[in-house]
Amino acid sequence: MSNIVQGKPEYYSVGILTVSDTCSQDSTKDRSGPVLKTLFAETSQLKKPFYVVKTKIVKDDTFEVQKSVKDWCDVENLDLVVTTGGTGFGVRDVTPEAVQPLFEKTCSGITYAMIKASLEKTEFAALSRPVCGIRGNTIILTVPGSPKGARENVQAILNILPHAIDLVRGESGENVHAQLRVESHECVHHDHKHGDKHQYSSTSLFGPVSQRQRKSPYPMITVAEAVNIVAEHSNILSPIKVPVDENLIGMVLAEDVVARQPVPGYRASILDGYSVIANDGPGVYPVIGVSIANTSHLSTNKLQPGQIARITTGGPVPPGATAVVMVEDTTLVRASEDGLQEESVEIHVQVSDGANIREIGSDTSIGTIVARKGELFSAVGGEIGVLASVGVKEVCVYRRPVFGVLSTGNEVIDHKSTSELKYGQIFDSNRPTLLAIAKATGFEVKDFGIVSDDAKELEKRLKEALTQVDVLVSTGGVSMGELDLFKPTLQQSLGATIHFGRVKMKPGKPTTFATLPGTAGAPEKLIFGLPGNPASATVTFYLFVLPALRKLAGYENWNSPILQAELMDKISLDPRPEYHRAVISFDHSKGKFMATSTGHQISSRMLSLRNCNSLLKLPERTDQCKELDKGSVVDVILIGKLNKTLQPSLKSKM
Ligand code: AMP
Ligand code: MG
Repeated sequence: MSNIVQGKPEYYSVGILTVSDTCSQDSTKDRSGPVLKTLFAETSQLKKPFYVVKTKIVKDDTFEVQKSVKDWCDVENLDLVVTTGGTGFGVRDVTPEAVQPLFEKTCSGITYAMIKASLEKTEFAALSRPVCGIRGNTIILTVPGSPKGARENVQAILNILPHAIDLVRGESGENVHAQLRVESHECVHHDHKHGDKHQYSSTSLFGPVSQRQRKSPYPMITVAEAVNIVAEHSNILSPIKVPVDENLIGMVLAEDVVARQPVPGYRASILDGYSVIANDGPGVYPVIGVSIANTSHLSTNKLQPGQIARITTGGPVPPGATAVVMVEDTTLVRASEDGLQEESVEIHVQVSDGANIREIGSDTSIGTIVARKGELFSAVGGEIGVLASVGVKEVCVYRRPVFGVLSTGNEVIDHKSTSELKYGQIFDSNRPTLLAIAKATGFEVKDFGIVSDDAKELEKRLKEALTQVDVLVSTGGVSMGELDLFKPTLQQSLGATIHFGRVKMKPGKPTTFATLPGTAGAPEKLIFGLPGNPASATVTFYLFVLPALRKLAGYENWNSPILQAELMDKISLDPRPEYHRAVISFDHSKGKFMATSTGHQISSRMLSLRNCNSLLKLPERTDQCKELDKGSVVDVILIGKLNKTLQPSLKSKM
């Protein structure tokens, strides 16, 4: 069996030789062989794991032991041969004597490390006589026949074995150390509590299913820790210049914008009426001109005492005028002979100087900062209007991230497909949901469709997508199934760094976050592997992806708002902190927000998101607190609009 995939060794090949008269008669009695096999299978968490490719049971017989060991070293060229059994003080125990002559070099350090580890457990370890050495390219270990001792011995040196094998295989020590450094960079987990960095790897893409990991190698981190890790990697994108128009909504200014002209730029009338000299007071006056809100009709004559001029809202107040009287406070005294023009008008009211006139720059004076760096162009529209009013044509904003969405799963079918679902198939609900959220939140999204659970196909599609986006969101394939290829593909085929692979939350436990350095100075790519279950995918999108998109786009408040609401029903708590889909609405009679559950919260139930506008942040269950009573007040993440009318209690659904 070759351990070379595309010219690159993907794992360390191991042979396990059980040396025991008894087991050679009845292989079911062999317990240490399987124990060692399991131990090596557990290393599938390493980037380059150990795979047991040979197992055999032989009698306590020098010739048989030597024959197998020589064959595995010289013919099979295995990286590691481990014999178990025959190392004690019994008369039939001959393994060390059989193996030692085969060594070209002895490895007394390894032997010492194994004995030391066992002696720490029991002084009887002194009755084991292990020997370790090198033959050709193979390292040979002899460990005791007891399952416990065998395991302890190998475990004691497991961490240094890859290094040792690499050296035996001809890599320079420097290379090995450099490689170890690179690997620890590639799949690093930051222990935020302790400031440490650990290395975690997923199941090898190339190993058999029997050797997949059965426990996730990823530590379960809290939502807060996960949110922080994502935030640390969500660096604001570079500014770009864009026109001032409706496309600015959702963008964040990357510069202060200063008014280069005043608003209004001339003395403008606030209403329709007559420009007057306020001191003239009430009386009948000749109408000597007209000033309507258009320069071509501008009266240029200076108003003299005893004169008035007709004016419209926004019209330039003529020179000499000190106020405007509204048309409702006047009456027509005389019209022209043809009846078309006003000749004299009676002013009924006394106005003060400046009445109904917007002086130059009274709305916005020259030099005013009309918008500040970091401000968001909201859908309310005011920020765009301000810039337009002072004649700003273009502004610098932070580039908004482009994000891509893809679904994974052999069973997942496009919901627009016209063919009937076959047995075992489901419609893709994740992509349409995430595409819709993207549209509503104003981020540009690219649809990368559905990818089957095939490592090569997934690798190809991920690589293709990552050239086009800043953030990639994939759903499905992130948990522990044999078709869950997302994490190993990211690590082993794309060389991405996985920052977390499990989060203590419900729903969304297998949520995965990784990064890949950008090429040629481009920013780091963020990659989210969200769980396939639709409610999990949607909840985790709101909790992790949307804040990241906002932060990249320069938002100062990138997290969704948190309110407090009172539960309308009691809710049972889960062992994990739960993000419970709910509807909140404002109860005017109580003066507070009320929350009602959307019903059964199983992560496959998309109906739990129908009409949902919020996620209740429920604490994890403790012995002291197993449920929250009706009337309890909880923190609520607002993900939708507050336009729901107060819902009746949905107790029946819970
Ligand atoms: P996975 O995370 O791939 O193990 O999928 C978990 C569950 O979610 C399975 O029952 C899948 O069939 C389902 N699932 C995966 N992807 C989708 C999707 N795009 N839309 C709806 N359900 C999905
Ligand atoms: Mg799947």
